[in-house]
Amino acid sequence: MDSTADRAPSHLFYQTRQRRPLLERAEGVYMWDASGKRYLDGSSGAMVVNIGHGNPNVLAAMRAQMDKATFGYRLHFETEAAEELARRTALRMPEGLDRIFFVSGGSEAVESCIKLARQYALATGQEQRWKVISRFPSYHGSTLGALALTGTATMTQPFAPMMQEMPKIPAPTCYLDRDNFSDEERGRRYAELLREEILRQGPESVLAFIVEPVGGASTGALVPPDSYLPRIREICDEFGILLIYDEVMTGAGRTGRFLGVDHWPAARPDIMALSKGFAAGYAPLGAMAADGRIVEAVLDAGGFVHGYTYAGNPLACAAGLAVLDELERLDLPANAARRGESLRTALEGLMDRFPFIGDVRGLGLLQAFELVSDRDTMEPLPKELNAHARLVDIAFDKGLIIYSRRTRGGHKGDHFMVCPPLIVEEAQIDELIGLLGDSLEAFA
Ligand code: PLP
Repeated sequence: MDSTADRAPSHLFYQTRQRRPLLERAEGVYMWDASGKRYLDGSSGAMVVNIGHGNPNVLAAMRAQMDKATFGYRLHFETEAAEELARRTALRMPEGLDRIFFVSGGSEAVESCIKLARQYALATGQEQRWKVISRFPSYHGSTLGALALTGTATMTQPFAPMMQEMPKIPAPTCYLDRDNFSDEERGRRYAELLREEILRQGPESVLAFIVEPVGGASTGALVPPDSYLPRIREICDEFGILLIYDEVMTGAGRTGRFLGVDHWPAARPDIMALSKGFAAGYAPLGAMAADGRIVEAVLDAGGFVHGYTYAGNPLACAAGLAVLDELERLDLPANAARRGESLRTALEGLMDRFPFIGDVRGLGLLQAFELVSDRDTMEPLPKELNAHARLVDIAFDKGLIIYSRRTRGGHKGDHFMVCPPLIVEEAQIDELIGLLGDSLEAFA
């Protein structure tokens, strides 16, 4: 049976008209299409399915919630699922970020963060603060508020006239720098760009700085030097600016610790966005975690003027709670750290075979590699080669799913996310690398 057989293309108006195979079922790290072909999910979808597909405990918890209630409007009822998930989530947050606000995805989480920050400024007599500085490259979501913070020109340009332009500073793309600075020095230099931008904008007008602690798909898993985020925290404190972490991709164990910030605990944010691995694809769910002092000030001033109909949906929260149980029961952040090491070593091994792999980087099971035409200069491949799409298609044909983008600050580069579910086993990493090696061979 042809899995792409005639179907009405009613919802197919994304980037291309190309039809995708019909998904039949998914279990663990594998997915099967309607023709029976098996795929190794080497990117957890879009870095979402952290606990793997078809987890029976999560499905049972969702069924149990369905038997009780699938919807209760937040202004009418509390639900046990939402209350318990909020309590358990707060326990995993940096100290003080104990107020949780549920949403349905990453973009909504980011919108909530910037709207809470703004209302905190209003509540504390700082009306002149509204600018949110972000970085390029970066990705914070597709709704107009989150998009205004996104540093990926191809995504923002069409909507530029409809958005308030927000200031951006370069993310630490250290792997492109050809200088003699130590990592420590380079991290501090990149952080100073924030201080310079704050002074350029006028510190009294700056509300917040938003950052992915470890870069996601837009940067290809960019890990900052250890000195970067602690210095960013100091700079925010110096000017009374809120620090927002977008942990939509890095949260829920992906980087080998529960949160990205857990690698740099001194660089604690004031507000955080979570989604993706938080409910691991079992339900649309995201969250904002905020410092109690911010929430209390906003409540004292009349309340948070914001909210979504599906916020705190009990079925989504039951899924999130069961996912959190699994993350903890199976100690998946630790598995991500362990398997991340093997994956990293294996990807670096591919560099010996394929000179056009310019860089391998990442943390835990948020790993990426970048293709270049010259490893010494890190010159990107010509755009016309369309490498980011071609290699993904070749791999897909061979039964391996990876995720790619062509962005890299002011430059252009093809990078590929290799981010299997955190339950991945050693033999499955070998299988992944085998399929990837065959794909790169066919690509060369
Ligand atoms: N923030 C980051 C860091 C992301 O990676 C994404 C999605 O890729 C988002 C926000 C937006 O999340 P969503 O697609 O769930 O709206």
